Amino acid sequence: MNKPISNGPPSPEELQRQLSEFMRHQMQPGAGQPAAQPEDAVAPESPVPPGKADQFEFKYKPREVKDYLDRFVIKQDDAKKVLSVALCDHYHHVRLALEGKESPNYAKQNIILIGPTGVGKTFLIRCAADLIGVPFVKADATKFSETGYVGGDVEDMVRDLLRLAEGDVTRAQYGIIYIDEIDKIAAANNATGRDVSGRGVQTNLLKLMEETEVPARSPNDIAGQIQAMMDFNQRGRKAPSTINTKHILFIVSGAFGGLETIIRKRLREATIGFGAKERPQETPEDALGHGQTRDFIDFGFEPEFIGRLPVRVVCHSLKVDDLFLILKSSEGSIIRQYEQDFAAYGIEVLFADEGLRRIAERAGDEQTGARGLMTVCERVFRDIKFEMPSTKVRRFVVTRELVDDPAAELRKILADPEREERIVTRQLVDEYARRFQEAHGMCIRFTEAAAELLVKEALEKGQSVRDLCANRFKDFQFGLKLIAQNSGQQEFVIDADAVQAPDKVLSDWVVASYRK
Ligand code: ADP
Repeated sequence: MNKPISNGPPSPEELQRQLSEFMRHQMQPGAGQPAAQPEDAVAPESPVPPGKADQFEFKYKPREVKDYLDRFVIKQDDAKKVLSVALCDHYHHVRLALEGKESPNYAKQNIILIGPTGVGKTFLIRCAADLIGVPFVKADATKFSETGYVGGDVEDMVRDLLRLAEGDVTRAQYGIIYIDEIDKIAAANNATGRDVSGRGVQTNLLKLMEETEVPARSPNDIAGQIQAMMDFNQRGRKAPSTINTKHILFIVSGAFGGLETIIRKRLREATIGFGAKERPQETPEDALGHGQTRDFIDFGFEPEFIGRLPVRVVCHSLKVDDLFLILKSSEGSIIRQYEQDFAAYGIEVLFADEGLRRIAERAGDEQTGARGLMTVCERVFRDIKFEMPSTKVRRFVVTRELVDDPAAELRKILADPEREERIVTRQLVDEYARRFQEAHGMCIRFTEAAAELLVKEALEKGQSVRDLCANRFKDFQFGLKLIAQNSGQQEFVIDADAVQAPDKVLSDWVVASYRK
């Protein structure tokens, strides 16, 4: 083996580069002074900042985690369930460990996510990390090399967790590390035979997944090491601590092309000789769902490595209907971003369902899952975003025609900006009612007269309907919830009076609900 072993010394070139970087850093004005260094945030001085250990609370049940994920992630129901359970198990265990009541035989619930690109694998984990309030780091397995000098070092991910946890070692120690493209470091089926580097990376990752102490500063970061020594000499500052990886949750993902064939072959062979019939037609995802440890080993993973990843989840490809729902109802929908982008210029954009569906259809052609939605939207809105802010247009609808030929529709809108102004404004009022129901679970409906008043006011004042309604009915979510609790009423009609005197009408309704 002529490769340098892991954690050996850097090459002379690398050493030279790091030293000159260090010297450059030292030559900058103020460098070397006791003033705060940016690294201070990364390298905490004591292993566990006082009082932080008991700040982690985890009180969720799997169903609550799934309900939260449902708000953002469309489809992937099985994945959401399995993940919710695994995450709850893991973080209940972490809580116990922090309280010193850890069970000694606990096996960590590291996870493999299988599925094509752009179907929500990363998004699921990112949302879950947000909910639980733990740092989350994502990296591509392909960027790691066995030695850590050429590519990235797997330990850098752990240090990234510490950076995201703002130097709080305890928080970093129960963060989530997500590694994409893990299938690319499988070795055996590699076209060039055995891929030594892939196995080496697996071994390095395995160490992290089991339990190891990672220095808060990289051993290859010579500049950082010298800096730490100087800090120690100058100010008696303690050397940076280490981060223990025992409770870090590892999630790996990939498309695993070829795994399906391996699984199907095993299933077929298992049935031979027992007179069993052909398995009924299964989707590729169904087949992947039958994956066992030995299939992953045949695919090219080391048994110890795959053994550390007991939870296996398959994410499904997304159809046009799913893409439509992602646009229309996911809280992470990119149309919210477009609404905000245009709102910055005082423009209200309304996405009609037919327009959303057309975007979804076109995104489906891209074959990149929900990522296609971004590609299509960028293309559709490129010129409109450039032109419209400098015109008088204040409202427009995204129709099927606009998605198909944005340039022609833009010309039409610019030729007669008032053409649809009223219609769009009215539709925005209805949209407000729909979103109110989605957000608060109660149905509100505007009478014709009420909607007319809102439309008139928005047009006269040149105000956005979304802002107008949000201001006017800001207390309704609370008032209506109270009424619903008192009387069970779930549907509310907003009439002209309620538009003109919202506070009075709402309080009258609340009072009446107590009488009921
Ligand atoms: P991957 O499966 O490759 O990890 P991502 O999770 O990064 O894909 O998806 C890219 C983006 O597409 C996400 O940030 C999210 O906005 C959107 N997206 C993907 N899948 C879904 C889904 N099932 N529901 C809602 N949004 C999704």
